[in-house]
Amino acid sequence: MKQSISEVVTADRDSVESAMEAGSLFAMAVNSVNETADVIGLEDYVRSILAQPKNSIIVNFPVRMDDGRFEIFRAFRIQHNNALGPFKGGIRFHEDVSLDDVRGLALWMTLKCSLAGLPFGGAKGGVKVNPRAVSKTELCRITRRTIFALGANIGPDYDIPAPDVGTSAQVMDWMMDTYMNLGSTLTGQSQLNVVTGKTLECGGSFGREKATGQGVVYVLDSLLPDIGLDVGACSYTMLGFGNVGSNAAKLLHDKGSKLLGVLDHAGCIADEKGIDAHKLSDYVAKHGSIKGYPDATEISHDAFYRIKTDMFIPAALERMISPEIAEILDTKVVVEAANGPTQPAAEPILLDKGIEVLPAILCNAGGVTVSYFEWVQNKNNETWTLDEVDRRLRRQYDGMCDRVHAAREQYKCTLRHAAYGVALARIGRVYNQRGIFP
Ligand code: NAD
Repeated sequence: MKQSISEVVTADRDSVESAMEAGSLFAMAVNSVNETADVIGLEDYVRSILAQPKNSIIVNFPVRMDDGRFEIFRAFRIQHNNALGPFKGGIRFHEDVSLDDVRGLALWMTLKCSLAGLPFGGAKGGVKVNPRAVSKTELCRITRRTIFALGANIGPDYDIPAPDVGTSAQVMDWMMDTYMNLGSTLTGQSQLNVVTGKTLECGGSFGREKATGQGVVYVLDSLLPDIGLDVGACSYTMLGFGNVGSNAAKLLHDKGSKLLGVLDHAGCIADEKGIDAHKLSDYVAKHGSIKGYPDATEISHDAFYRIKTDMFIPAALERMISPEIAEILDTKVVVEAANGPTQPAAEPILLDKGIEVLPAILCNAGGVTVSYFEWVQNKNNETWTLDEVDRRLRRQYDGMCDRVHAAREQYKCTLRHAAYGVALARIGRVYNQRGIFP
């Protein structure tokens, strides 16, 4: 009998441990799947499978702080779906991270890996901690205890974490080292590829640090001409200037695009003559934020959102584009470098204003794609050059953009539905082919 997503979700909401909060990321992600499933005619049983994660893991553990106190930390790992391959997804360090948000981010990872044509499923993790409020030694112990607590729930052929908001290549090195100390002494096998996003010294890949920003730029190269824009001649503003934002901005600077304003967690700046993304990036590396950057003017958040541009690039946290912000944005394209930056109620406002929205699962798939390259290199004891990584990433992106373009033509739909449609159709084909056990 046909079971609609809303029935599945209602049943899910009734279960004790998986309440789906109204307006949560998981609700946002499930609703987008539901809408797209109608557009492409996805089978109901596949929708139902995707409407809940396969495994939800919550761990609590004590960590000794520098002053001798013990503090209890909580971490989540959601393994959403592994029909296409091992679970794959970042671990976020943020004080506000919630189980429900991680469920949404994990579902998006399932879709992103499918769209990118990778042999991975989707997962996501979160540790409730403000990484800026603890010392480096405390951060190291929190990271190691997280991996110890997750234990056999992760592994190089089972579930492979990666960086996300609040983590770094150093954090990924500690994760890999902890896992290998726990396991490799017994098996004698190298397990470098238990996590990706490591430093080059510890088995990371050339190009991983800039990969998500690089992917954003490849999408713009491919899709902006359809909208009548040339990326090198575009002006833009950037919301968030961390790993994704700063790397995208540096690459855009080198192409000639003009950065007119930046907003991050601590500051908001603008310069109509253009901000040098390389200099700003060096400043942020030293000071932790754009606040106080001397070669631009400090402005209000309201003034930032009103700057007239060709592109607006959200590269910070989720749900940051509210309906009110959508009303005042004066741009031609919203480039979702962050995951889920556009609130569902804001999207129709953008579309009604003729603003194109390039969806996150397409724009920011560069990170997981180069993570896949890192995983393959570790598995085969290979080191690819930066040129090789960029060439492969470009090829992957050309394929992805072509598939999304074709789906848009076929279904006459938004780019978001086209991207989700490609991802869901692949997962649907895999389920139909494999069947449901037993
Ligand atoms: P990051 O921690 O390096 O940077 C986050 C940025 O957001 C910082 O500049 C921070 O100042 C800003 N920010 C945080 N709170 C803010 C607020 N309230 N207002 C304005 N700015 C705020 O994180 P990141 O790795 O660059 O990730 C950014 C986004 O991209 C996230 O949605 C993440 O899930 C997504 N993403 C990251 C990767 C990756 O490889 N790092 C891959 C795919 C998707």
